[in-house]
Amino acid sequence: MRVNLITGSTGFIGTNLSKYLLDQGEVVIGIDNFSSSEKWKSELFSENPNYEFFEHDIVKDVHSVLEKSELFKKYGKIDRIYNLACPASPPRYISISLETLDVCTIGVRNMLDLAKEFDATILQASTSEVYGDPIVHPQLESYRGNVNTVGPRSCYDEGKRVAETFCYEYKRLFNTKVKIVRIFNTYGPYMDPSDGRVITNFILQAMEGKDLTIYGDGKQTRSFQYIDDLIQAFMKFMDTDADFIGPVNTGNPGEFTILELAELVLRKIETPSKIVTVEMDKNDPYDKKNDPQQRKPDITLAQEKLGWSPDIKLEEGLDKTIEYYKNLNRK
Ligand code: UDP
Repeated sequence: MRVNLITGSTGFIGTNLSKYLLDQGEVVIGIDNFSSSEKWKSELFSENPNYEFFEHDIVKDVHSVLEKSELFKKYGKIDRIYNLACPASPPRYISISLETLDVCTIGVRNMLDLAKEFDATILQASTSEVYGDPIVHPQLESYRGNVNTVGPRSCYDEGKRVAETFCYEYKRLFNTKVKIVRIFNTYGPYMDPSDGRVITNFILQAMEGKDLTIYGDGKQTRSFQYIDDLIQAFMKFMDTDADFIGPVNTGNPGEFTILELAELVLRKIETPSKIVTVEMDKNDPYDKKNDPQQRKPDITLAQEKLGWSPDIKLEEGLDKTIEYYKNLNRK
């Protein structure tokens, strides 16, 4: 029986990953401090005997969680750690910037120590934000980025960059089994409707008959990956040779302007909503200087090393996501 420890387990990715692993019959010990997630998600799988959840901040020693865990006592091991703990939406991480820096440094180090202690494989959730506002397009893993150290996004961008360096050093110094995955914009069920990401904002605005708010001129681009594709990339990455640490990009190379996305959402949801543009500088943290103007992953490495490519096109993923929010509203 494989024992997985997931930090940030009640976040968007953590919830989907917990569900997937439990469906595979694996054990999941989830940890979250709810700094940027909804509490009800910690109860979603409480009936499953292979699941346990602990409210805890990984900046503090994680052994206290293991001491309380019946599943850990039963199996006496941890095979895989998914370190997803970190707020990921710009308004959220900017509102708790120091905690964001702490979890990307002290928190990451605590989890690496745990991986080292249990000889577990640890997957570190990194991000396309390590490329900053990229000058090279699309972004290859070898591109070193264009990142501002002193701006509203810096706590996240620089935090995630140094987190990668911690992973690299644990591999180099202690041969810890690390996997660094650079996640590009991802969407799907269980995204927190209030966290301010563009897809949830547009879907909810359209469902509520409010106007869709485009920050700036809407010409900025993003590439949107459906959550199920990301989970498949995680699984394939975890199965690679221990010496392969990445970093590996995962994302969907289909690139859309934010205006195109808004138009697509309006085609899919019957609504009186219109598209409006909002001046960026009035909407800090999305000020012009720091909102990346284009983003699209080069996924050649993932294709070659993981044998992975995304399957789900934006149209299809949006349909599934809209369905999820419609059902959520009915409850
Ligand atoms: N955005 C927008 N309207 C919104 C939310 C976001 O136009 O209601 C824009 C935002 O300025 C950015 C893009 O959509 O250019 C993606 O934003 P998101 O917060 O989803 O992700 P990130 O900036 O981290 O890629």
